[in-house]
Amino acid sequence: MKYKGLSFLALTAAFLLVFIGMIQAAFSLTGFWFFAEFVITGLFMLIALAGMAMVINRIGAGWALLAFVNALVLLNVFLLSLVSGLSASVLSPGVIAALVGLFVSVANVGMKRKKGKKKNGSRKNSAKASKVSKSFTPGKFIASATGTVYHTPKCDWAKKIQKKNAVWFNSAEDARKNGYKAHNCG
Ligand SMILES: [Zn+2]
Repeated sequence: MKYKGLSFLALTAAFLLVFIGMIQAAFSLTGFWFFAEFVITGLFMLIALAGMAMVINRIGAGWALLAFVNALVLLNVFLLSLVSGLSASVLSPGVIAALVGLFVSVANVGMKRKKGKKKNGSRKNSAKASKVSKSFTPGKFIASATGTVYHTPKCDWAKKIQKKNAVWFNSAEDARKNGYKAHNCG
C-alpha cells in the first residue's frame, strides 16, 4: 500500500517533468512540427490522466496504460530528435523522467501479477473460511463494539450482544481486519 502511494507520487512527478519537457520542446519547434508536438503532448496528457484515474480507481490496466504513455513519450522524443535535430540537453530531463515513469509503471504491473499469484496460493485458506461460513449464516459474523472477539450468529455469546453494540462482518477476514479475534464458535 505504502509502496503503491509512493510510486504513484513518483509517477506524478515524472509526468510533470515529461510534459514540461515536451511543451518546452514544442516551443523550440516552428510551423507544422510545433503544432504537431502540441497536439501530441495534449493527447499524451489525456492518456496519462486516464491511466492515473484508472490506478486510483484500481482498474486493472491502469499501470499498463501509464507504462504505455511513457513508452510513447520516449518514442516521440526519439522521432522528435530525428525530425528536428533538437539537442539532447533540451530533451534530457523529460527523457529521464519518462524512463523513471516507465520503470515505475512496469514495476507496478509486475507487482500486480505477483499479487495475483499469491491470491491463488491462499485459496486453501479461503476455501476453509467458506466451509465454516456454510454451516452457519452464510458469510456473516457478529462482534460487540465493546468486545475483542467475533462470533457466528448461532453462538450463545453472539445472542448476548446488545443490538446497539452489534457490529456485523461479511467475512471472518473482515472481522480480523477490524481487530477482532475468532471465538471458538467460528
Ligand atoms: Zn462465539
